[in-house]
Amino acid sequence: MTSLSRIRIGRTQPPAASPIPFKDVLRAFPPSLQNDVCEALLVREIKQEFGQHFCLLVSSGKAALVLILRALRKLHPAQDEVLIPAFTCYSVPSAIKKAGLKIRLCDTGAGSLDYDKEQLAKIIEKNRQDNRILCVLVTHLFGCPADFEGIKAIVGEKIPIVEDAAQAMGEETSNKKLGTLGDVGFFSLGRGKAISTMGGGVIITDRYDLGNELSCLSKNLERPTASDNIQLAIMAIFTILMQYPAMFWLPKALPFLKLGETIYDEEFPMGMMSSVQISLMHNWRERLQRHQKARKRNIDFWQESLPQTISPCCSKIKKVSLVRLPVLASTAKDRDRFCQKSDENGCGIMPAYPTAIHQVPQISGEFAGQDFPNAKHLAECLMTIPVHEYVQNSDRMKILDILKQ
Ligand SMILES: *Cc1c(COP(=O)(O)O)cnc(C)c1O
Repeated sequence: MTSLSRIRIGRTQPPAASPIPFKDVLRAFPPSLQNDVCEALLVREIKQEFGQHFCLLVSSGKAALVLILRALRKLHPAQDEVLIPAFTCYSVPSAIKKAGLKIRLCDTGAGSLDYDKEQLAKIIEKNRQDNRILCVLVTHLFGCPADFEGIKAIVGEKIPIVEDAAQAMGEETSNKKLGTLGDVGFFSLGRGKAISTMGGGVIITDRYDLGNELSCLSKNLERPTASDNIQLAIMAIFTILMQYPAMFWLPKALPFLKLGETIYDEEFPMGMMSSVQISLMHNWRERLQRHQKARKRNIDFWQESLPQTISPCCSKIKKVSLVRLPVLASTAKDRDRFCQKSDENGCGIMPAYPTAIHQVPQISGEFAGQDFPNAKHLAECLMTIPVHEYVQNSDRMKILDILKQ
């Protein structure tokens, strides 16, 4: 993507950032000192915080989803379809395929990241005859709460709901914590998520049957080796240094890092969370709150200041602290122009995902003849404004300038 002529040197905002304090990285060294006690402690803290009786720490959000789907399949062997929004992170369809299941798509509502309720109702109605749907994913994209109650009312009690809270750890809706609303939920601790430990996934559930299946499945997962841990700790240091806006132009210019590219890949590892990652979760509640406070401040600004032609794509921005602020440009051309201008000025405005799910080349064959126009529209017109703690007033002014042009 990066051509040499377009490399920019100088203050450059990452689209999202959840910086790990440097002292926490030093704490994670030497990796060999870590042990099961830290893991048990983190599991207990998460169970307590989210009021769920089961918690499993794995290598990524994708791995978390694969395990959840496998566990559900054991309980419901006759169902093999997973219903997801037609616009979401590519990791979601890749996890469904890895679990050996079939992807079912439902369009998003007009100008929304959430399901189109009418289409959802039709799909659920039809499922009463063929009964293929194993579960419905409810996604809180960018941390923006989906209308869980509305979706639940349509889906009913029989089909399990999996909450994709990958980007929403620590967020709430109507005083209920995201990730705890459905039958089972998961968070990602990857780069650009609500809190990052350089990768990692968390599964939580209050259902005993699912907890038991998950616990069985986890016995086959690999534990990272000492050398994996050392590599990860070194990567953590590199990432922290490069995440500063003063440095971010450098990794952005290195094509082999593939920053900001969305790649569909079913060949990801399935493992347990590493001890370095667990150790980087030290103080996670305080850190999460700090990230949230900074994000909220930025979001409050945008709530007052977005130009008329740009509409926020989350109806609840008053109440949440998003990992990035999703907004819609009026046309695809405008969106691309904003992103290019932002690129030239290091402002961190980015498209979200390059295509809707039915347009992902590796799997598009499965959706021949189907169309999801609203999801397609999101892929063309959606962009995200950075709201992380490195975004200062001067950065906001630069972004505002671009959005006003
Ligand atoms: C990031 C993400 C995932 C996958 O998490 P990883 O830790 O990157 O595997 C799943 N769903 C959504 C919505 C995400 O943003």
